[in-house]
Amino acid sequence: MSLETSTPVIPHFVHGRRTDGESGRFGDVYHPALGQVAGRVPLATKEEVVAAVASAEQGFQAWSRLNPQRRARILLRWVDLINAHADELARTLAQEHGKTVPDARGDIQRGVEVVEFAAGAPHLLKGEFSSEVGRGVDVHSIRQPLGVVVGITPFNFPAMIPLWKAGIALAAGNAFILKPSERDPSVPVRLAELALEAGMPEGTLNVVHGDKLAVDTLIEDPRVKAVGFVGSTPIAQSIYEHAARMGKRAQCFGGAKNHAVIMPDADLEMAADALIGAAFGSAGERCMALSVAVPVGEETADRLVALLRERMEGLRVGPSLEESSDFGPVVSKDAQRRIEECIASGVEEGAELVEDGRGVVVEGHEDGFYVGATLFDRVSPDMRIYREEIFGPVLCVVRAKDYEDALALPNEHEYGNGVAIFTRDGDTARDFTTRVEVGMVGVNVPIPVPVAYYTFGGWKASGFGDLNQHGTDGLKFYTKTKTITTRWPSGNREGASFVMPAGS
Ligand code: NAD
Repeated sequence: MSLETSTPVIPHFVHGRRTDGESGRFGDVYHPALGQVAGRVPLATKEEVVAAVASAEQGFQAWSRLNPQRRARILLRWVDLINAHADELARTLAQEHGKTVPDARGDIQRGVEVVEFAAGAPHLLKGEFSSEVGRGVDVHSIRQPLGVVVGITPFNFPAMIPLWKAGIALAAGNAFILKPSERDPSVPVRLAELALEAGMPEGTLNVVHGDKLAVDTLIEDPRVKAVGFVGSTPIAQSIYEHAARMGKRAQCFGGAKNHAVIMPDADLEMAADALIGAAFGSAGERCMALSVAVPVGEETADRLVALLRERMEGLRVGPSLEESSDFGPVVSKDAQRRIEECIASGVEEGAELVEDGRGVVVEGHEDGFYVGATLFDRVSPDMRIYREEIFGPVLCVVRAKDYEDALALPNEHEYGNGVAIFTRDGDTARDFTTRVEVGMVGVNVPIPVPVAYYTFGGWKASGFGDLNQHGTDGLKFYTKTKTITTRWPSGNREGASFVMPAGS
C-alpha cells in the first residue's frame, strides 16, 4: 500500500456529513512530536466551498427560526458533549498541534467558556426601547442574525478559537462555516460532529478545509455576510482588505510581541515563574505568550536573568503525550527551521545568548520538531529577534534604564496584543494600564486573556476591525441592528408634514 492510500484523510464536515472531497489536492498533517505525517487534509475546490455555503444557507433557515432559548439549550448540550469527549479531544489536539495534554485541555476549556457565555444570548440579544420619543411615537431596536458567516482560524488554538467564533455566531442565530488551520484540522471536525449530535440542524455548522482558494471563495460569495479571522498579521490585513472591498464586515486578528515590564519593586520570584510559563508554555506558540521581558534598572535585570536561568535548568521539552514534558515540539519542520534562524540572527546582531535551545534531541523522537527554551539578554529594539514575532520558545530580555524607557517599548512596537507589568506599586500599575498602547493588559498576571464575558482583541498590527472577539462585542459583530419607529393611529389626523421630525 502506498503512503498516500494508507494515510488517513481528515474530512470536511458539510451538511451533517463527513466528506473527503474531490479536489485531489491535500495538505500533510503531522505528529510534530515524531516528525511524521499522520494524516492528509483535503484542500477544497471552489465548487466544494460554494456547496458548503449553499448548505449553510439551508442550515440558517432552520436554525434562525428556533427561538433564542431553544438555540441556547442546544448550545449547552453541545458543551456537555464536548466535556464528555474532553479526553479524546485533548489527546488528538496534543498529537496534531504538539502542545501537552493538560495544555490542550485548557485550549478546549477556554473555548467552552465562550459557548457557555453565548448560551446567555436570549438576554444578551435584547434590544432597546424608548416610549413617547414624539407624540404617540415609540422606538425600539432589535438585533438580527446576519445569515451565513465564516471563521478562518489559526493552528495554535484549534479548539478555543473556532469555539470563540462559532459559539457566539451560532447563539445569535447565524449559520457558521469554519475554515480551520490545515495543520491541525481533526478537532474542529469533531466539534462540528458533536454540534450535530447536540441537535443543531444540518448545515448550521460546516467545516471546510482549504487554502487561499477556499478563503477567497468564501470572502467573495455574496451569501457570506461576515468574515472573522485569526492568524498572522500579513494574512489578517489582506483578508481584512479583501472583505472590506467586498462590502463585508470583518474582524481580523494578527500576530503579537508581548512585553512584560518588571519594576524594581516587583516580586521577582513571582515574575520569573510567570515569565517561564508564559514564554515557554505551548513552545511559545501563543498569541499571548510573553516574548520580551523588560526589567527596569541593571540590578533588577541581573537578578531576573539569574532567576530565569535557574528555572530554565529544570525545564523539559518533550513529546506532547508524556506527562513529564513541560512543553512539546513546535508545529512543523518549517517553524523549527525559522525559529532556529531567528536565534542565529540574534547572535549575529550581538544579543547575549544565555540559553540556546537549538539542536535539542529528544530520545526516541529524534525526528520531532523540538526547540528548547532559549533566553537572550541585552537585546536591543533594532534587532530582528525584537522586531519580529518568533512564535517559538524564545524569551528576549531588553534592559530599560527607567520606567518611561520601559513603557516606550510596547508603545512603539508594531504589535499591541498583550502586555504585563510586575510591580507592588498601585500608582505605577495605574499609570501603566492607562498609558500603554496595547489591547489587553495584565498587572502581575502574565497572560491576561480576558474571561469569556469580557472581550479579546489586540491593537495596532495585532487587530484589524473595530469590534473584539467574544463578550458583548462578539454578539455585536455577528448581528445587525434594526431600529423601528412606531406610531399607531390614534384617531387624531393632522395631515402630511413636510418638516424633518425633530424628536420632541
Ligand atoms: P496563518 O496566518 O498562517 O494562518 C491562519 C489561517 O489563515 C489558517 O486557517 C490558514 O489556512 C489561512 N491562510 C494562510 N495563508 C492564507 C492566505 N494566503 N490566504 C488566505 N488564508 C490563508 O497563521 P498560523 O500560523 O496558523 O497562526 C499563528 C499566527 O496567528 C501567529 O501570528 C499568532 O500570533 C496569530 N494568532 C493571533 C491571535 C490573536 O487573537 N491576535 C490568536 C492566535 C494566533
